[in-house]
Amino acid sequence: MADPDCLFCRIVTGDIPADIVHETDTTVAFRDREPQAPVHVLVIPKQHQPNAAALVEADPSVLAEVIAAAHDVAVAEGIAESGYRLVANTGADGHQSVFHAHIHVLGGRTMGWPPG
Ligand code: AMP
Repeated sequence: MADPDCLFCRIVTGDIPADIVHETDTTVAFRDREPQAPVHVLVIPKQHQPNAAALVEADPSVLAEVIAAAHDVAVAEGIAESGYRLVANTGADGHQSVFHAHIHVLGGRTMGWPPG
């Protein structure tokens, strides 16, 4: 399930430190090291899948748990009422840089649209 060469798998195992803000049996959430908004947290499944679509194919209930964890993070960070954005960058044009499924939780300011 874990890929020893995957950065986010190594955060799940604790080999690489991260500022973890939320954890469940199947998910971990930690602050992005290059925040793009006042709140910028990544929610990942503990199991290794290369992107969100692959996670749905492998285990759809875990994607639901990732989304639920993202909302729990938004509540804990005080942005659930003001609003927030969930982003799942996928592939090169989607600007995906880490190939372990993850959802960005962004908030604390008004998000622009369309995205860059
Ligand atoms: P993406 O471009 O959608 O694949 O997002 C990957 C995100 O992971 C980027 O926003 C990076 O800033 C973030 N990131 C990369 N390495 C780390 C790390 N060690 N700890 C926290 N965030 C990271």
